[in-house]
Amino acid sequence: MVKLSKLGFWVQLLGVATCQFNNYPFRVSSIDPSSYANVEVIQTTNFDLDITVDFNQKSVYGTNLLSMKALRDTSEIILDTQGIIIKDAWYSFTNDEKAVYVPANYETYIDKQLGTALRIYLTDKIFLGDLIFVKISYQTTTDSTAINWLTKEQTASKTLAYMFTECQPINCRSFAPLQDTPSVRATYTSKVTVDQPYVVNMSANFTQMKVVNTNQFQYSFAQPIPIPSYLLAISIGNLISKRIGTRTSVITEPTTIVDDAKELQDLNTLLQLSEDYMGTYIWGSYTIIVQPPSFPIGGMENPLLTFASPTIIVGDGSQVYVATHEIGHSWTGNEVTCRDWSNFWLNEGFTVFIERHVSAGVHGPDFSKLGSQLGNQSAWDDMNGYGLSNSYSSLYPIMNGQDPEISSSEVPYEKGFQFLKYLENQMDKPADFQAFLRYYVHRFHLQSVTFLELRIAFKDFITTLYPGDKGTNLLAKVNWVGWVQTPGAIPKDNGLDFTTDAATKMTAMANFYIDNFGQQSPTNIEDYTKAVDPQIKTVFQNQLLSRQSDVTYDVLDRIDKDLNTTLDINPEIGQRWFPLCIAVGYDKCLDAAHKFVGRIGRQKYILPIYQNLVRYGKRNLAYQWFKESQTFYHPITAKKILNIILSSAENDKVVEKQISKFLN
Ligand SMILES: [Zn+2]
Repeated sequence: MVKLSKLGFWVQLLGVATCQFNNYPFRVSSIDPSSYANVEVIQTTNFDLDITVDFNQKSVYGTNLLSMKALRDTSEIILDTQGIIIKDAWYSFTNDEKAVYVPANYETYIDKQLGTALRIYLTDKIFLGDLIFVKISYQTTTDSTAINWLTKEQTASKTLAYMFTECQPINCRSFAPLQDTPSVRATYTSKVTVDQPYVVNMSANFTQMKVVNTNQFQYSFAQPIPIPSYLLAISIGNLISKRIGTRTSVITEPTTIVDDAKELQDLNTLLQLSEDYMGTYIWGSYTIIVQPPSFPIGGMENPLLTFASPTIIVGDGSQVYVATHEIGHSWTGNEVTCRDWSNFWLNEGFTVFIERHVSAGVHGPDFSKLGSQLGNQSAWDDMNGYGLSNSYSSLYPIMNGQDPEISSSEVPYEKGFQFLKYLENQMDKPADFQAFLRYYVHRFHLQSVTFLELRIAFKDFITTLYPGDKGTNLLAKVNWVGWVQTPGAIPKDNGLDFTTDAATKMTAMANFYIDNFGQQSPTNIEDYTKAVDPQIKTVFQNQLLSRQSDVTYDVLDRIDKDLNTTLDINPEIGQRWFPLCIAVGYDKCLDAAHKFVGRIGRQKYILPIYQNLVRYGKRNLAYQWFKESQTFYHPITAKKILNIILSSAENDKVVEKQISKFLN
């Protein structure tokens, strides 16, 4: 559907037939099929936001001024938007004080998967190498998928409302009109006006704060390193900062700053260890902002300012590896970026590899081996969910115009990691692969790449490092198609082995409970209850899940009494235990599960619970729990939960009616 806005007005006024535009259909970018932006012909070099954040209206409004450079001759610019109202558009060929901004005609095209394309017509054609400055006045709506608005009651300190964004993969277009694709990198500056006493943080350097009037502050930021749009991020609330190292800080609400800073006290060491492995950290300082509980994911590597779920603050340090992961993105993801979402594994597989290398140095090799084993199980769960012949079960998912969020799974993380581990094992020593990682980052510094560029870089590196037959044989051995493009299992004879004694013991312990029908307790309960590495508990839980059809009420009851599982504070346990209890009908866990989904908004932890409620005849309960927490959840999370509840609602007219009422 094409919606004419200002263009329609001019067309009517001039008496021009609208069909003149039929020669210019909206098409997704040939560089990034998740974007409508015509990045083949023109690219953003900088964008400058001048916005006001209105908590009363739950809206962001103002202007985005894009500095763009033509790669070819063109007379139109197409940007991505979603859930925002475009008020006006102008352009100019200069951007100094004498700049004259000419009003521009524009039209929009709505695509339910990818948002709304905004085509801006230039009266004057521009040519290869020309600079142009495009200013757009806009306002976000409550349909903006990037923005989460929280009431003050939903925050930890309950003093001020709260707002944060999550732009990956394609939600930035709902925060501001721009070229929302990782194939384009741009610097940015911003001025953000908010009511006093709100504090604003962005994925950029803070430059100044001034008092606008008796009610408002204006914060300014600058990000001088070009970044892809999905790394644009803002967080506003009652926030304070605490320095915890020479380059590292923690930001969060005042009531939790002490606990959060304590849990993350090793941040400086983790940054240093990562830098020792990967080379210079280019971003300056490193800060983690611990978000309110509705934050939908574990962490987001926004440059200078990682956003993290409070679920990483468990009290036992068990989830701090999330911070290690986000630090790793400083090199792979933020410095070298995937060009499109089919190549997402270049961000995640590499970063998991760095994370596990650093974690092995801190916690010992078994910690990383356990993580790899658990990750492999999760990836298999996801692949089985997609189907083993679905491209989403490969490292190169074919999007076919779908929202790339649908392909988001453990596959790019774990299969990507396994491929890199395999490549490392083909080399003489781990230091050779470390040298390759540094070479890759150096060669593609601040560029967006595909796996084909990785492949070329690998070939160049190996040919130089191992001249002659040695290098040739190594390169011939690597099955790139099998690893990257083939769905399902990884190539055979890969030599990867992530087994550990601790995991073997836990698997046996879970089997003991099941095989004895919950009538006996094993003698080595303390291997579980006193485990130093909490991942060991997860192995136990995974084994129960893998034999779900053999698990009975009595088995769960015995385990719960022995291991206190229902009340375990580690969300990695709740994520597995509660869905299992629901599947088996062990309703003693329902109260705790109810509280769990009401206080945690991280998708990974709560979606499996909603899935099993629906799957095992408790859809009404799922809907009730969702209704109670729907304003607490991030919009992306709420949408996913609703999809789960709707997925089988056709069989339940009562719920269907309730849901259609909700949707209206
Ligand atoms: Zn990541």
